[in-house]
Amino acid sequence: MTDAPLLAGVEAGGTKVLALLGTGPDDTVAELRIPTTTPEETIGAIVDFFAGQADSGNVAAAGGIASFGPVENRPSNERYGFITTTPKPGWSDTDLLGPVASVLGVPVGFDTDVNGAALGEGRWGAAQGLGSFVYLTVGTGIGGGAIVNGRVARGLVHAEMGHVDVPRHPDDSFEGRCPFHRSCLEGMAAGPAMADRWGKPAQDLEGAELEDAIEVEAWYLAAGLRSIVYVLAPERIIIGGGVAELPGLIPAVRQMLVDQLAEYPGLPEHSSVDFVVPAALGAMAGPAGALALAELALAGA
Ligand code: ZN
Repeated sequence: MTDAPLLAGVEAGGTKVLALLGTGPDDTVAELRIPTTTPEETIGAIVDFFAGQADSGNVAAAGGIASFGPVENRPSNERYGFITTTPKPGWSDTDLLGPVASVLGVPVGFDTDVNGAALGEGRWGAAQGLGSFVYLTVGTGIGGGAIVNGRVARGLVHAEMGHVDVPRHPDDSFEGRCPFHRSCLEGMAAGPAMADRWGKPAQDLEGAELEDAIEVEAWYLAAGLRSIVYVLAPERIIIGGGVAELPGLIPAVRQMLVDQLAEYPGLPEHSSVDFVVPAALGAMAGPAGALALAELALAGA
């Protein structure tokens, strides 16, 4: 790896930020971990970190930012690289890309944390070698990134796969908690929905209650994935996020998706254990995503 270019990455989350320099997620030479406070303080610390590293000889060839959102991720838009209308206090209409690109002085890629994680899984994780796949994160929210023919699928805005409609589980009376759609996929199946439905956080469920929760959760995720499979025709679906770590959830989703596809269009790949898989990068998804965006920026993509 010694010949690989040094890359700068920023994983900007709603509660913490990781800035790093390295050639890949397993080969970093410097890291900065800070809480996400005000934009001025947080972005100032990132800029100071990269400036200090450059003074020490750690000069990046390109950079990448994988950010919480919503963000403006269209390079042609004048507000490209901005966090747009986030409910996080103080961060709406914040230029995140500009100050980082300015201090680095090299091309810097920018996208959502979810699209970044999808790229990272393609480069170093569970989707290596695949051209078209979907990464779905299931945690406090549900978000998805689609890689189509090797590129992030994006149009007017990034995808919002968590807000697709899902039919109601026959035994479920939970009304849903999406403030916009109430009973969309995120409203029915994100971590807070599970906590509301079962009266406790998902990680505290056990025994028969856990089994019931897995059954309902897998049913909703499979329903959402059915739409994603039919619209995007991915070669693989990778599921990450805290909820995805519930024991037995991924195999249950895999089986229920097969059931809900009802043998249409009847591809053997859809029944494979390789079709719905857990994320491989875990806590490294964010840094890997930022560095994958940096690699694309370096390549001029
Ligand atoms: Zn919704």
